[in-house]
Amino acid sequence: MPKDESVYSYSAVLMGSPILLKLFRRDEALAGRVFALIKRYEDLFTVNRAESEVMDINRAAGQRPVSVSAAVYQLIKCAKAASVPPASAFNLAIGPLVKRWRIGFQGDSVPPEVDIQALLAITQPQDVLLDDARQSVFLAKPGMEIDLGAIAKGYIADRVRDLLRKEGVREGLINLGGNVQTLGAPEGGWSIGLQKPFAASGELVGAIEVVDKSVVTSGTYERYFEQDGRRYHHILNPHTGYPLDNELDSVTIISTDSLDGDIWTTLLYGAGVEAGRQWLARRPDIEAIFVTKRREIFLSSRRHFRFTLLDDGYRLIDCTA
Ligand code: FAD
Ligand code: MG
Repeated sequence: MPKDESVYSYSAVLMGSPILLKLFRRDEALAGRVFALIKRYEDLFTVNRAESEVMDINRAAGQRPVSVSAAVYQLIKCAKAASVPPASAFNLAIGPLVKRWRIGFQGDSVPPEVDIQALLAITQPQDVLLDDARQSVFLAKPGMEIDLGAIAKGYIADRVRDLLRKEGVREGLINLGGNVQTLGAPEGGWSIGLQKPFAASGELVGAIEVVDKSVVTSGTYERYFEQDGRRYHHILNPHTGYPLDNELDSVTIISTDSLDGDIWTTLLYGAGVEAGRQWLARRPDIEAIFVTKRREIFLSSRRHFRFTLLDDGYRLIDCTA
């Protein structure tokens, strides 16, 4: 990348999130196509509006299977596979609990215990029944709802990368708010800030440098509310129905595909630092940065990124050193 070439940034608000595209050429037409692609997927996946293919599936819960487009079917199939292992904290059928808590939306409050227990019965991932031949999805119990909020941005970030690559873009970046996907390597790498939990937006604990990688961060500080002096955040434990409660403030995943980043941030949120590191020992393609409430930053490994600590209130623990 020549040093004097400028970055062109294009922004939009989609999926309730600020979206940023960076290119090294001025290309409004391409930026427009990228935002249109994101919008098209949002229209298929959203559960924040009355109409989408996922809403069609949810409305037919307990009644009939619904045939959907290839993208929706593929993503649901992938999300189900991540959800069914008993130790998984990921659950694509978490919808009824997400809707009941409303965390990050108006009217959020702690539901009565009896409501949570009742809703747990209709959030079982095995009750999402798939038919490859018909490309159809059937939610076996009335009231069930699929929620792809934890995974759809990753899928979309990967499709944006594919489009940019097809259009001959060698260096570019798309940030979907939590999911960053990069192409190529300007000046030796893309520098991506790691947000300081519960601090003002833009305050960083560290910087991650990557080439051709996805960087996904999931944090309890992103969407939460407080009630009676307690904080309730938006990543729910599918086994209890309450927000996941452990030593973590955030998990960041560095991987090739942002879809993997999305699945693994949620899995590792559930696992915590110790178990999470053991799981990753068998996945050299997935690397994690854990930020704990005790102000420690654990790096599971650093094969595919460089990390710079920017806040000396935090202690860096490099598990590979
Ligand atoms: P992640 O940690 O990746 O995911 C957390 C989200 O996943 C939760 O918000 C919940 O939806 C779901 N979830 C919670 N627990 C689990 C679990 N155990 N397993 C699996 N999933 C879980 N926001 C708006 O404010 N307005 C909108 O109109 C809007 N539209 C959207 C449309 C689409 C297609 C998508 C993908 C997102 C949209 N959002 C919208 C944002 C959405 O509500 C979530 O806040 C966002 O997807 C969370 O992503 P994250 O990476 O921040 O968090
Ligand atoms: Mg996610």
